[in-house]
Parts: sequence; structure tokens; C-alpha cells
Amino acid sequence: MPTKYIIVTGGVLSGLGKGIAAASIGHLLSSRLKIIPIKCDGYLNVDPGTMNPFEHGEVFVLEDGGEVDMDFGHYERFLGVNCKSKWNLTMGKVFDMVRQKERRGDYLGKTVQYIPHVTDIIKHHIFEISQEEQPDLVIVEIGGTVGDIENELFLEAMRQMKEDVGRENILYVHLTYVPIPYGVNEQKSKPTQQSVNLLKQRGIFPDIIIGRCSEFLTREIKSKIASFCDVHPNAVITGLDVEDIYEIPLIFEQEGLPEIIHKKLHIYSPPDLRKWRQYIENIRNPEYAVTVAMCGKYTKLEDSYASIIEAFNHCSAHLRCKVNLKWVETTGLENLDESDVLEGVDGIVVPGGFGVRGTEGKIEIIRMARERDIPFLGLCLGLQLAVIEFARHVCGLEGANSTEMDPDTPHPVIDILPEQRTVKDKGGTMRLGAYPAVLKEETLVRELYGAAEVSERHRHRYEVNPDYHQRIADNGMTFSGLSRDGRLVEFIELPQLRFFAATQAHPELTSRMERPAPLFYGFVRACLNR
Ligand code: GLN
Repeated sequence: MPTKYIIVTGGVLSGLGKGIAAASIGHLLSSRLKIIPIKCDGYLNVDPGTMNPFEHGEVFVLEDGGEVDMDFGHYERFLGVNCKSKWNLTMGKVFDMVRQKERRGDYLGKTVQYIPHVTDIIKHHIFEISQEEQPDLVIVEIGGTVGDIENELFLEAMRQMKEDVGRENILYVHLTYVPIPYGVNEQKSKPTQQSVNLLKQRGIFPDIIIGRCSEFLTREIKSKIASFCDVHPNAVITGLDVEDIYEIPLIFEQEGLPEIIHKKLHIYSPPDLRKWRQYIENIRNPEYAVTVAMCGKYTKLEDSYASIIEAFNHCSAHLRCKVNLKWVETTGLENLDESDVLEGVDGIVVPGGFGVRGTEGKIEIIRMARERDIPFLGLCLGLQLAVIEFARHVCGLEGANSTEMDPDTPHPVIDILPEQRTVKDKGGTMRLGAYPAVLKEETLVRELYGAAEVSERHRHRYEVNPDYHQRIADNGMTFSGLSRDGRLVEFIELPQLRFFAATQAHPELTSRMERPAPLFYGFVRACLNR
């Protein structure tokens, strides 16, 4: 069977959940098919690694070290695949490739043009991935909305693709918005019609239209959209607003999406949603609840912590325990009020972050967690700040800090990695991707992972300074996981407390509904037991 392609585009407005729609389609088809997700982003950055989380949400890190769009988090969680950096194609990467080819002389004698040269690069990249991975199905998500200048070349490449692969092997899905204006109280189809028209002007005729709406689409609106947009009424699918995104595959199944795809592409992979349904049941009907203080500086934008939120959802599904997040903004909290911060809190998380802003507030909160024996989980920067707090207040190293925050600190307990010292470029140059850690026997971390060696993904430039390892350990902090050569601290814990653990890695990135990240699981259990 030839590889099949599903192209997912979006219209009307951004933020309708195209990535989740694409991942949900994949989830429904994943029981028997090998599926590869590809995301095309129109921006000129090579990857989102240099963007502020305020702008772009979380930067997702892949096993191979690729810094990619946060939609890859949804893909990995919904499809159970380990994605590759190559599967995120940005316009920045495309132009890079075109420029290299031009300099190499591959276009000698030719005027290099958007069409066919740039569109050829896009298609070639997608076909090359198909060649390498030999999937049954490739799902290509085109970022942005139709009509944006940025994604025109991607859309044109997608239009051309039907000639290359054959119309029977490609399916176009368009996600739009069906508003119910206040006072009108009726589902409106006009934005969808206009958006589909924009798509048609570009030569793409959608096979399936998903209408995001706060209610199920009525039979009337489905027929109306169907007739205006030239699709079968059954091919108009509700993209219902839901409380948690894991419900979307269930909605799509209920709306008959797998059958339509089967009819059009002749691929059938009966969805098996029993377990998934059970997990969602557990999340929806918790027996217990805990409140976790999330201490960060991007707390206004939950997208910056998307994978952490999902990791907690995974714990909820297994422990039947709702995890309420209390967002604690640490910027300007140098004199924070202890009772305010800790009010109703069962556990504390200090997530990853960059730069000095907000760090003193976080260190203060970590001190509270340690002194009052409140369950604490530190992630990347969270580990570094826990070490700084311990150095200052337990080891008596006054002014201890990270050289990232204070280059002149008398005690640089966190310092730049030696291999990072000479690095000048900012993009893609951190310690990135999966690295193994050897876990020490009889530690909490080892017990939680149930393994002597584990691999987790990283994204950092600084580390616990080896010159201070002995001093810190002598004062009672356990280094429960180290790199194979013993040089880098990967996990720490304070064994005398009920749960005080942190890691230099980002275990939230590999947490899955089927197997929550062990540290998160242990942490939530500790909050619950408290
Ligand atoms: N800023 C710290 C470093 O670069 C931590 C990074 C992070 O939390 N991802 O090492």
C-alpha cells in the first residue's frame, strides 16, 4: 500500500487547536497504522528554541535534541511515537536549505524562485521523511491560518502534492470556527464558508471540515456547510470545546471521522479507545484532590508549561486524584508572604526557566518546602535553585548562586557546562536531548523509576559545579542520579524529608497517559499522603 497523506490546515482564527485535531485524528488511526506527524511552521526562525515562551508556548525537546513546536508534545502523547527534529519543518529551515543548494551550485544557470524551487524543497523534505520512515500514513499540519502570508508556500506545496501522490492517497482536512454570537443564539457558518473559499482559491478542496464550536454542530449547519463548501454532510465534523483535550478523539469518533477517512483513503484501523476512555473517566471523577503551587515567571500563559500540566493529568488518571494548580508568580516576590504562598498548598513545583528574574522568589519558596517538609519537585532550573538554597542555608555558603544569575558570586555552585564555555551561537547549542543517568541504590528516585539507569531529555547550559559536590553531599543532600562519567548531577534528593526531589532533566516531556513520569507520580502520591 502506498503511503497515505492527511493534510491539516486551519482557518478563521488561530488557537483553534489544529495540533490537537491532527494528533486526535492520528490517535484514532494508530491502532494498526504506523503514523508520522510533520508540522510546517511559517516563521523564519530555524526552530522555536530561541523564542520566548510568552510568544510561542513551551519549547518541546525531542529525544534527538531537536527543539520543536509544542504540538509535538501532543503528537508524542497521542500517537505514542518518538518524533524526530526533521519532522518540524519551519520556513527558516526551508530557506536555509534553498540557500545551501544555491551556493553549492545545484541551481546553476537558473533563477531561484518560490515556485518551483522552494515548494520542491518542502515536498522533497516530506517525501524524504516518508522514504526514511516507511509509514502507512503521514499527517502534515500546516501552522497558521489560510490567508497568512507566512504559510502560502506550504499551502502551495500541499496543493501540488496531490499530483505527486495521487488524489486517492491524500486527504485535506480544514479546521474552522463556528461561532454562536451572543443574542443570535444560532450556529453561524459564514466564517467557515469564507475560510474554505480562501483555501479553494489556493487550489485546495477540503475533503473534511472540522468546525470548532461550543456545541455539537446541528444537522442544519452541517448541511449548510456541506453544500456551500462541496463536501458530504457526514464529512462536516464537530470540534467541540472540551475541558480536556484527551476528549477530542472520543468526540471525533462519535462524529464518525474514522469512517469518512476510511471511505476516502481506504485505510482502516479500528479505534480502540477503551483504556483511553477509562483514563478520562478517572480524570473526570477523581476521588481525591491536591493543590500544587507552580512557581514560575510565565504563569500567565499556561501554554508555557503544557507538558507539566499534561504530566499531572497522567498522574490524575492513575491515582484518581485531581491536581489543582495554584500559579505563583515569583517575579518581585523577594519579600513574599509565606502564609499566602502556602495557603492550601500540598506540594510545590519549581519548573524550568532562564535568566535571573524571579529566581530569588523561587529560592525562598524552596526554603519553605525544605523547612516545612512540603513535597517538592524541581525541574531543571528547579534543581539548580534547590542546590543554591541548600548551599546558602544549610552548607553556610553565603551568596551561593548560579553564574547565570550572578557571574561574580563567591560560590558558583551552579556553573556553565565546560563544553558551553566557548559556545557563542544561541540557537540549538544547549545540552539538548536524551542523556542517560545512573541511579544510586536505595534512593527515592531509583525506587520510583525502578531501574538502575534511565534516560531523560535535557535543555540547559548550566550544571551543579563539580567543585562543590563533596561539600553539598557532606551536608546531607543525596545525588541520586549522575551522568555515566559521574561528572554531571542529574537527580538530587533530601532523604530525611518525605518528598524532596529534583532533576536536571525534563521528565514531563516523556510522560504519557499510559505511563506517567515516575517523579511526577511519586510527587503527587506524596502530596496526597500528606
Ligand atoms: N537556565 C538554566 C540552564 O540553562 C535552566 C534551564 C532550564 O530550566 N531548562 O541551565
